[in-house]
Amino acid sequence: MQASKPEHFNLNVKKALAQPDLKGIIRRTTDKADAKRAEAVVNFPEFEKARLQGQKIKDHTIKHMAHYLAEFEKNASAQGAIVHWASTGEEASRIVMDICKQHNAKKVTRSKSMLGEEIGLTHSLDNSDIERIETDLAEHIIQLAGDPPSHIVWPAMHRSREDVIKLFRQFHKDPTSSEEIIDLVDSARRDLRTKFLAADIGISGANFLLADSGSTCTVTNEGNAELTTTPPKVHIITAGIEKLVPSMAHAVPLLRLLTRSATGAEITQYITFHNGPKRINDADGPEECHIVLVDNGRTKMLADDMKEMLRCIRCGACMNHCVVYKHIGGHAYGSVYPGPMGSVLTPHLNSLEVANKQTHACTMNGRCEEVCPVNIPLPKLLRSLRAQSWEKKFEPLTNRLFVKIFAQLAKRPKLFQFTSSCSVLFMRVFSKNGWIRFLPLAAGWTKNRDLIAPNSQTFMQQYKKHQKPKSNRSA
Ligand code: SF4
Repeated sequence: MQASKPEHFNLNVKKALAQPDLKGIIRRTTDKADAKRAEAVVNFPEFEKARLQGQKIKDHTIKHMAHYLAEFEKNASAQGAIVHWASTGEEASRIVMDICKQHNAKKVTRSKSMLGEEIGLTHSLDNSDIERIETDLAEHIIQLAGDPPSHIVWPAMHRSREDVIKLFRQFHKDPTSSEEIIDLVDSARRDLRTKFLAADIGISGANFLLADSGSTCTVTNEGNAELTTTPPKVHIITAGIEKLVPSMAHAVPLLRLLTRSATGAEITQYITFHNGPKRINDADGPEECHIVLVDNGRTKMLADDMKEMLRCIRCGACMNHCVVYKHIGGHAYGSVYPGPMGSVLTPHLNSLEVANKQTHACTMNGRCEEVCPVNIPLPKLLRSLRAQSWEKKFEPLTNRLFVKIFAQLAKRPKLFQFTSSCSVLFMRVFSKNGWIRFLPLAAGWTKNRDLIAPNSQTFMQQYKKHQKPKSNRSA
């Protein structure tokens, strides 16, 4: 499957809606995730308090970002790690590829990292003579399928069990004939196990960067991150600068929010802290450890007054609760980050001009903000992006014209009421059995939706009719 582009959002949506099974597959997983998260919140009565604490920790760190970044670099270097800085995704990808070349790497294992996708590392590796081995189960599935990820926590959400069975039978050396999940997982384990040991370099992301120790923290459920980062001689960590927290005491409250919001679990199977390369008496671990700290539009978000978005801990709860995401899935967004958080992030990572349609797809029902574990006001940020898009004239001319006409009408109550009455009459001409299935001038809308036929009178006409004369009211 070819990666779709953010500028083709409308076309991507049409394609997604035309896939008969996609909506059902997406809903099955997101509805399950919603229910598990809700249960986890009920079983964690201090959740609201924890959210506020999480928000405060992130806001404090963002405010003192320069200080904590310098502290992290100093302490990570003292642990023996080599810290690199990348202002763009291309630069970050280039740094990683240069390290791979310096070590003459032929095989590279990777544990799931959305930042790796963001900086285009998967493409850079695929365009080189290095074999890229994805070790997270979902990433393994989409690598076999040739798909980009469609969710930040469950990248293979768009694939059904039947798809996975076919893929494993086609690509695994020793595939299982069973269709049970446990046997399919075993099949992937057998396929990956020897590859872990043969890798020259392991690449991982980080969920948190701890400034006071220079440690990085990864949170996983499969143990693949540990097998990716321990056996190879070189370990490369790529992380966005927003992953920073002052200390372990600050990482733990965020961790409690992250696991519950992402999967509904109290805790993940593995939480690993990396502290540079192995020491002399260590039995295992990499001989060299590189940390690539990536900006790629993040400091611009501070300048653009989008700093609340830097609180994001990538739990995916906002997309699981988004009515738009549930209908179209992740690929339609044309970005590594789909759903509500992606609609705010992508214009900064790419540009508002190419990614402004996503900001308009939001229904503003506010569910994303309600479930966000760090209280990110996603609808407010989306509205702000819409306003910027309007000011920069990125909206199609027809939309701009329509809004201008509406603004003129709204300023003239009599004319507004007259036009409303005419519109109601016009719409009723096309109604049948209480529904409008086709409406000229709005054919694009009615092509995919039926509208309820309007009442024969406008609101103002009914309001006047039901108003009692003044003399009666005082009686
Ligand atoms: S915006 Fe909030 S809910 Fe969405 S991924 Fe980020 S932290 Fe999670």
